Amino acid sequence: MNLKIIKSKIGNAAITQIVETDINDAMPIILPDAIPEEMKKIAWLDKPYRTDDFLMNADSQAFFVELNGRLFVVDTCVGNEKEVLGFDGFNNLNLPFLEAMEHAGIDRNSVTDVICTHLHFDHVGWNTYKDNGEWKPTFPNAKYHFAKEEYDYWEKDGFKNHALGPLENVSFHESIDPVVEAGLVNFIEMDDDLGDGISVKPSPGHSKGHINVHFDAGKETFIIAGDMCHHPCQIAQTDWAAIIDYDQKESGVTRRKILGELSGSEILVTCTHFCSPSFGKISGSESEGFVFNTVDKSE
Ligand SMILES: [Zn+2]
Repeated sequence: MNLKIIKSKIGNAAITQIVETDINDAMPIILPDAIPEEMKKIAWLDKPYRTDDFLMNADSQAFFVELNGRLFVVDTCVGNEKEVLGFDGFNNLNLPFLEAMEHAGIDRNSVTDVICTHLHFDHVGWNTYKDNGEWKPTFPNAKYHFAKEEYDYWEKDGFKNHALGPLENVSFHESIDPVVEAGLVNFIEMDDDLGDGISVKPSPGHSKGHINVHFDAGKETFIIAGDMCHHPCQIAQTDWAAIIDYDQKESGVTRRKILGELSGSEILVTCTHFCSPSFGKISGSESEGFVFNTVDKSE
């Protein structure tokens, strides 16, 4: 089984998406408001983001971005051999993700920066891999950037007070602790500059310390916005919240604020679970509804 690899160019950046698996079956659970009758009302929402029956298509994927001499990974999927309590479809995966990276020409030893938009299990999985029963950093020469706010939340209260707490507790030990212990983590602010045109901006709501990643790629700029939206339908329906949002009200406020800022601009945006073609420009307004205008940058 070969995993899907999508290569794109945006400005000076070379982007490789590796799709670990689709998450189509999980989407109606994650976004319960997005029922087919409501999805039909979003005139611009076309395939491949939906099926003929107006069900959502979405992916678990990682974005590798080569820019200005650095090689970034934004979000690292579910990973192999991870214990994912309560989500059978993601439990104990055994997929050729590392082979797909190799096939795509990505040497994991050359990755300079890993950015997790937040620390849910499906965004941190390939931070580590199992080697002789031990969790080892997949990207041993990278700095792993985690928002301090997000890390502190899960470490202090999240396991006890969040619906995903027990699952996140396991995920933390498998995918986060080992890179902290290896001394590879750089704790950042939610609004921070990582140099060479790469920065992060706050987008709280889905999680407490959720961040969007901005890439200034010369003639073009793009944003990878994690789980600010799980599906393009939330660009039209900004109040459709994910069942696992830390704060469902705040996630809507964040969407409206950021989509409002992006509307009419040339900035390309995607969210981590948007299936390919994943990038687009935003138009419209809060009152008339925002629109996702796909721009296919794949080669
Ligand atoms: Zn996610």
